[in-house]
Amino acid sequence: MENEMKCPKCGQTERTKSGFHKGKQRYKCKFCGCNYTGGPLYM
Ligand SMILES: [Zn+2]
Repeated sequence: MENEMKCPKCGQTERTKSGFHKGKQRYKCKFCGCNYTGGPLYM
């Protein structure tokens, strides 16, 4: 399986782009509204 980025809180993959944080794409979960950053922190 490819690495599909999930929300670290609810595990959903539906998200919107929310700018960049420290050079990485930042996402906002459509379900719970939490912000998370793509990359090795949350896989
Ligand atoms: Zn979420």
